[in-house]
Amino acid sequence: MAVLWLDEISAGDLEKVGGKGASLGELTGAGLPVPPGFVVTAGTYRSFIEDAEIDEELFEAVEVDVDDSSALATAADRAQELILETPFPDDLREEILASYREVGNGEAFVAVRSSATAEDLPDASFAGQQETFLNVTEGALLDRVRECWASLFTQRAIYYRQEQGFDHSAVNIAVVVQQMVDAEKSGVMFTSHPSTGDPTMIIEAAWGLGEAVVSGAVSPDNYVVPRNDDEIDVTVAEKKVMHEKDEETGETVEREVPADKRNARVLSDDEIDTLVELGERVEDHYDTPQDVEWAIIDGDVYMLQSRPITTIDEGGSGAEAPGASGAVNAAKGVTDGSGSGGTQAASGGGGGSSASSGDVIVDGLGSSPGTVSGAAQIVLKLDDLDKVKEGDIIVTEMTMPDMVPAMKRASGIITDEGGMTSHAAIVSRELGVPAIVGTTNATTVLEDGQIVTLDGDKGAVLEGQKVEPDEETEPVEEVRPQSPVKPMTATEVKVNVSIPEAAERAAATGADGVGLLRTEHMILSLNQTPANYIEENGENAYITELVEGIRGVADEFYPRPVRVRTLDAPTDEFRQLEGGEDEPKEHNPMLGYRGIRRSLDRPDVFAHELEAFRRLYEMGYDNVEIMFPLVNDAEDIYQAKRLMEEAGIDPAKRKWGAMIETPASALSVEGMAEAGIDFASFGTNDLTQYTLAVDRNNEHVADRFDELHPSILKLIGTVIETCREHDVETSICGQAGSKPEMVQFLVDEGVSSISANIDAVRDVQHEVKRTEQKLLLDSVR
Ligand code: PEP
Ligand code: MG
Repeated sequence: MAVLWLDEISAGDLEKVGGKGASLGELTGAGLPVPPGFVVTAGTYRSFIEDAEIDEELFEAVEVDVDDSSALATAADRAQELILETPFPDDLREEILASYREVGNGEAFVAVRSSATAEDLPDASFAGQQETFLNVTEGALLDRVRECWASLFTQRAIYYRQEQGFDHSAVNIAVVVQQMVDAEKSGVMFTSHPSTGDPTMIIEAAWGLGEAVVSGAVSPDNYVVPRNDDEIDVTVAEKKVMHEKDEETGETVEREVPADKRNARVLSDDEIDTLVELGERVEDHYDTPQDVEWAIIDGDVYMLQSRPITTIDEGGSGAEAPGASGAVNAAKGVTDGSGSGGTQAASGGGGGSSASSGDVIVDGLGSSPGTVSGAAQIVLKLDDLDKVKEGDIIVTEMTMPDMVPAMKRASGIITDEGGMTSHAAIVSRELGVPAIVGTTNATTVLEDGQIVTLDGDKGAVLEGQKVEPDEETEPVEEVRPQSPVKPMTATEVKVNVSIPEAAERAAATGADGVGLLRTEHMILSLNQTPANYIEENGENAYITELVEGIRGVADEFYPRPVRVRTLDAPTDEFRQLEGGEDEPKEHNPMLGYRGIRRSLDRPDVFAHELEAFRRLYEMGYDNVEIMFPLVNDAEDIYQAKRLMEEAGIDPAKRKWGAMIETPASALSVEGMAEAGIDFASFGTNDLTQYTLAVDRNNEHVADRFDELHPSILKLIGTVIETCREHDVETSICGQAGSKPEMVQFLVDEGVSSISANIDAVRDVQHEVKRTEQKLLLDSVR
């Protein structure tokens, strides 16, 4: 038998029908309302490749070095071609089509979903990597089944299996063919609290097909239902889009939600009751809390999928975000048990702890929160980095990209120079290491081995050890929301990433995507200028570095969007690198040869960056967006767009945009909108320095660096207004996006998204929600 009907399948059939098929079969058998259908078994896929004698060639084709992106692309193409070009044997064709005709009298629209046999297993989360097709009818069914099989060999799937140590030939794939539910509303339900296991159901619901909720395309309503009959807590979200079947083509399309339904509550009390009852049945059936996908049509509730919740902490506190995996950064600090969650104390590291006298011996700008005690290590040259041991506090003039490994070991960082947007400030925040910048004198006042306490909130360095080692914390855990239910906001809240190592920590925040991925930190950490690196290693190696760096972040967030900025490093930073002696000498690098002006001046070099994007798109990373830095006007945009086209990237198909970092760009945004940008993102670090003429890295004028200056707010307000008129999204990715006052201002003005520092995401989510609710209240009062 090539197919098995859902009512013939139970949980034990995982090897035959994959995780999804087994779960649907089990639910059907338990009498739960599952749309009818069948599974083309994993054995059928296996016989298909073996009978056609393409199996050996297939597995050989995908044995490649997955870090070689062009070899990976060739392997994926070849493997997929082998499957897609092999015809169906007649008996198999007939059996599948005959089964289809039994579903809905042969006229049914069906969903065709891959169900890999390794999917949904612990530590092998391939979920979402294989194809799913909706609204399929007889004519296309067989092709879709074959495409599901071929999706076992996309570049991402091959890469993942190799990385996770799975043998390609040991992974099989079944295909579920199931009657479509043209959902009027749909969503997900946790049958118990996903963090604590408490008897509280959490339901998320939106209009239309569930894909919009699962993929994150829409912010759903949120219903928290205590099972002890307490009041339901309802948060109604603004639901901008919905997925539904196009009546003419039968295809699934994304549409705007009609105005009257956008802010309307999706679920009635009766529907919630029905869902809760089903939730209880499914939880009883499995005897463990479940994460359920459901849909409602004509008042009937269907269950589309159910999986055990894996995030409940047996210890009763905290939760691992769904999908979070991999190694966390080594613990460097321990909490002092007295203050905020972010407060840390280093475990010493210099011996001889003395009680703190409490005297402030150095002060500066608190640029990364937390309090730590440890031994100071003065780093004046790169050779000094070796003396930085786990738990020490680095004291330096200014951090450099090659200090990042030592910064990870350190428990704190203190610099003489720099402002809140300097390298030290940005990187330490991303690493979750407390830091103080711009002290002017730390390297002269502090001594090697001296035990000090660094208060990264107040910007003060105190004599002696003030915080006692207590309980270990990990930077990833600090940013993980304690409640699994993130505040539902209409304004998206994203996160900034500058070093790929921070991607896991960034993703753990539950942010809606990455609003800024700075590529220059990837390049600077090569320790060679791009020209020098290319000369020694070749163009392909350089492109591969970019592809790999971006891919790490794009994977961590997929399918949430990742906005990647093209290179923007000033010449003084490039000069520190090998090959940097060829960089132009500039009196004021901040006003010089950087950002898009450099890229447009050297299209041959820029072409490598664009090629990296093209390869990522080819690999299926459709969540990657392109952002151009330091543009001034529409002319910059037209030129960049032309270079994108020349590089084989279709600007109409991809999401791309520009940063607003100069007053000129703010005043020219209308022309940029006409040139086709999809979004404009405020880089307030630069916008502030160029509007106020305050060097952002100069500690002597740091007190004048005011991102909330009325002139800057005026520029921002005008840009948001113009962009709204032209349907261009707006966002902020400068440091000021983490400040509550700026968040309030932006939400009031109607910004589309806010991208915050990793450690600020949670507070920004709450601030956005508070401001949105105030706006709603004001409008009805
Ligand atoms: C900005 O200027 O605000 C920005 C986000 O870019 P960078 O800090 O990298 O210059
Ligand atoms: Mg900038």
